[in-house]
Amino acid sequence: MSSLNVKKYQDLLEKKRDELMHATPVRTPAAEPGSKSGDWIDQSSQESDLHVRLALKQTDSKLLRAIEEAIHRIEHGTYGVCAECEGEIAPARLEAVPWTRVCIDCKAKQQEAK
Ligand SMILES: [Zn+2]
Repeated sequence: MSSLNVKKYQDLLEKKRDELMHATPVRTPAAEPGSKSGDWIDQSSQESDLHVRLALKQTDSKLLRAIEEAIHRIEHGTYGVCAECEGEIAPARLEAVPWTRVCIDCKAKQQEAK
Protein backbone atom coordinates (compact mmCIF):
# COMPACT_ATOMS: atom_id res chain seq x y z
CA MET A 1 0.00 0.00 0.00
CA SER A 2 2.75 2.45 0.86
CA SER A 3 3.95 2.51 -2.73
CA LEU A 4 0.55 3.60 -3.90
CA ASN A 5 0.06 7.28 -4.51
CA VAL A 6 -3.39 7.44 -3.01
CA LYS A 7 -3.67 11.21 -3.28
CA LYS A 8 -3.48 10.98 -7.02
CA TYR A 9 -6.43 8.61 -7.18
CA GLN A 10 -8.34 10.69 -4.70
CA ASP A 11 -7.92 13.69 -6.98
CA LEU A 12 -9.09 11.65 -9.95
CA LEU A 13 -12.10 10.40 -8.04
CA GLU A 14 -13.10 13.77 -6.68
CA LYS A 15 -12.78 15.37 -10.06
CA LYS A 16 -14.97 12.73 -11.64
CA ARG A 17 -17.47 12.98 -8.79
CA ASP A 18 -17.76 16.74 -9.21
CA GLU A 19 -18.20 16.26 -12.92
CA LEU A 20 -21.13 13.91 -12.35
CA MET A 21 -22.72 15.99 -9.61
CA HIS A 22 -22.63 19.15 -11.67
CA ALA A 23 -24.06 17.51 -14.74
CA THR A 24 -27.40 19.27 -14.98
CA PRO A 25 -30.57 17.23 -15.22
CA VAL A 26 -31.80 17.09 -18.74
CA ARG A 27 -34.84 19.10 -19.65
CA THR A 28 -35.76 19.10 -23.27
CA PRO A 29 -37.97 22.00 -24.33
CA ALA A 30 -39.20 19.75 -27.14
CA ALA A 31 -41.08 17.64 -24.60
CA GLU A 32 -43.51 20.49 -23.99
CA PRO A 33 -46.65 20.28 -26.08
CA GLY A 34 -47.17 23.19 -28.39
CA SER A 35 -43.53 24.07 -28.58
CA LYS A 36 -42.41 25.15 -31.99
CA SER A 37 -40.28 22.12 -32.61
CA GLY A 38 -39.80 21.18 -36.22
CA ASP A 39 -41.21 18.35 -38.26
CA TRP A 40 -41.58 14.72 -37.20
CA ILE A 41 -37.98 13.92 -38.09
CA ASP A 42 -36.67 16.37 -35.55
CA GLN A 43 -39.20 15.16 -33.02
CA SER A 44 -38.12 11.54 -33.25
CA SER A 45 -34.44 12.32 -33.05
CA GLN A 46 -35.07 14.39 -29.94
CA GLU A 47 -36.97 11.53 -28.37
CA SER A 48 -34.25 8.99 -28.97
CA ASP A 49 -31.74 11.47 -27.63
CA LEU A 50 -33.80 11.70 -24.46
CA HIS A 51 -33.75 7.93 -24.06
CA VAL A 52 -30.00 7.88 -24.43
CA ARG A 53 -29.69 10.58 -21.79
CA LEU A 54 -31.94 8.72 -19.37
CA ALA A 55 -29.87 5.58 -19.80
CA LEU A 56 -26.74 7.60 -19.16
CA LYS A 57 -28.21 9.07 -16.01
CA GLN A 58 -28.74 5.63 -14.50
CA THR A 59 -25.17 4.74 -15.24
CA ASP A 60 -24.06 8.02 -13.70
CA SER A 61 -25.76 7.40 -10.39
CA LYS A 62 -24.21 3.94 -10.16
CA LEU A 63 -20.85 5.40 -11.00
CA LEU A 64 -21.30 8.16 -8.48
CA ARG A 65 -21.92 5.59 -5.77
CA ALA A 66 -18.87 3.59 -6.78
CA ILE A 67 -16.79 6.77 -6.68
CA GLU A 68 -18.06 7.73 -3.24
CA GLU A 69 -17.26 4.26 -1.98
CA ALA A 70 -13.77 4.49 -3.40
CA ILE A 71 -13.19 7.85 -1.69
CA HIS A 72 -14.47 6.27 1.51
CA ARG A 73 -11.92 3.46 1.13
CA ILE A 74 -9.16 6.00 0.63
CA GLU A 75 -10.16 7.67 3.90
CA HIS A 76 -10.07 4.31 5.64
CA GLY A 77 -6.79 3.25 4.12
CA THR A 78 -8.22 0.27 2.29
CA TYR A 79 -8.07 1.74 -1.17
CA GLY A 80 -6.41 -0.34 -3.88
CA VAL A 81 -7.23 -3.61 -2.15
CA CYS A 82 -9.40 -6.06 -4.01
CA ALA A 83 -12.79 -6.61 -2.34
CA GLU A 84 -12.80 -10.23 -3.48
CA CYS A 85 -9.33 -11.69 -2.97
CA GLU A 86 -7.85 -8.88 -0.83
CA GLY A 87 -4.90 -8.68 -3.17
CA GLU A 88 -3.55 -5.38 -4.41
CA ILE A 89 -5.17 -3.89 -7.46
CA ALA A 90 -2.64 -3.00 -10.14
CA PRO A 91 -1.92 0.75 -10.32
CA ALA A 92 -2.53 0.68 -14.08
CA ARG A 93 -6.03 -0.61 -13.43
CA LEU A 94 -6.65 2.03 -10.75
CA GLU A 95 -5.59 4.70 -13.15
CA ALA A 96 -7.98 3.46 -15.80
CA VAL A 97 -10.84 2.80 -13.38
CA PRO A 98 -10.06 4.56 -10.08
CA TRP A 99 -13.40 3.54 -8.54
CA THR A 100 -12.93 -0.18 -9.09
CA ARG A 101 -13.40 -2.53 -6.13
CA VAL A 102 -11.81 -5.63 -7.56
CA CYS A 103 -8.56 -6.58 -9.24
CA ILE A 104 -8.44 -7.56 -12.87
CA ASP A 105 -8.40 -11.29 -12.06
CA CYS A 106 -11.53 -11.13 -9.95
CA LYS A 107 -13.22 -8.89 -12.50
CA ALA A 108 -12.52 -11.51 -15.16
CA LYS A 109 -13.94 -14.22 -12.91
CA GLN A 110 -17.07 -12.14 -12.27
CA GLN A 111 -17.61 -11.75 -15.97
CA GLU A 112 -17.12 -15.46 -16.59
CA ALA A 113 -19.68 -16.25 -13.93
CA LYS A 114 -22.36 -14.26 -15.74
ZN1 LIG B 1 -9.01 -9.90 -6.62
